[in-house]
Amino acid sequence: MAGVTDPDRCPGVLRPHSAADGALVRIRVPGGQTTGAAIGRLRRIAQQFGSGDLQLTSRASLQIRGLADPVPDSLIRAIRESGFLPSQTHDRVRNIVASPLTGISGGKADVRELIANLDAGLNAEPRLASLPSRFLFAIDDGRGDVSGMPFDLGYQAVDHHHGWVLLGGADRGLYVPARDAVPTLLELAHRFLTASQEFDHVWHVRDLADWATTVPGVRLVELPRGVMATPLGAVVGAASVQVPLALLTPAQATSVEACAAGPVVITPSRGLVLAGAAGRLPELAAVGLIDNPASPWSAISACVGAPSCASSLISTRAYATALAQSGSPLRRTHISGCERRCGAPAGDHRDLVAPRDAQLLTLGESR
Ligand code: SF4
Repeated sequence: MAGVTDPDRCPGVLRPHSAADGALVRIRVPGGQTTGAAIGRLRRIAQQFGSGDLQLTSRASLQIRGLADPVPDSLIRAIRESGFLPSQTHDRVRNIVASPLTGISGGKADVRELIANLDAGLNAEPRLASLPSRFLFAIDDGRGDVSGMPFDLGYQAVDHHHGWVLLGGADRGLYVPARDAVPTLLELAHRFLTASQEFDHVWHVRDLADWATTVPGVRLVELPRGVMATPLGAVVGAASVQVPLALLTPAQATSVEACAAGPVVITPSRGLVLAGAAGRLPELAAVGLIDNPASPWSAISACVGAPSCASSLISTRAYATALAQSGSPLRRTHISGCERRCGAPAGDHRDLVAPRDAQLLTLGESR
């Protein structure tokens, strides 16, 4: 059974992680749905208390690094007042990824209301604060762009009125009216907790071998699915940009705040979609955000590496920069300072992993 000896150490706002560059807090942003003004508030907090950068994660969360350790109460207060800590008890379980372009372009339904209702429903159920902090909900608007990610419970729209509630992957689910999706997901989360409580350290639906098959009404299903990066550039009227190395600098965050005319969505591929801001792409590109799919930065990611992480002997960011500047045509590549491969993308990619003696990088394929 996976994860049996591995304690649940995922950070949150109320449970900071001590890194080599100071404490860090992870701020959940369900579905990646936020606004330019909210990004601006977090940018000011990151500059006042931490390194100044906002780090994007593959679950569309944001991290503030370089904090005093222990973190001051005034930081927690500032994050709460900025609207990013709606629950004291459920801080680390609000893990929801979703189709980033839902309601903006494409998809079979706009699932933004469903995301908000799922988050509210989670926060309203005291027992669900006990879900593992790695437990992930995936809400797919029917285009199949997030249902290929490893997730625990999900929903994939078929149209505005119906969809599949998915258990442990996109191949098994319950066909439900859209209005029943959130209650069904919450009920299944309770069932998972009940089933998992006889084991230690069960994090995921896949850790309970046959659990999903015992849920009444579950059927095998074939749905469109994949792990698709959000297209860059102008997407209908929206501006879609990649954040190099997933570190949004203060200048970039300031530009996002200035350019965002409507919602801002953090993507699982560590980019940002600014609704209604296609005309502002030149300003966003001027501060180093990537709007050109031909840019090598759209194909390179890296863990934070040295000196921010004590487990790394190399500066992954320096390697990534050298790779980006080499001019070589690239396939999707992730650079890691150790075998944990933090932040590696879910889809096909090439892994560059620093060996223990860090004399050179090894090359491996990951699927
Ligand atoms: S992959 Fe290793 S070196 Fe990189 S951030 Fe994770 S633990 Fe640190």
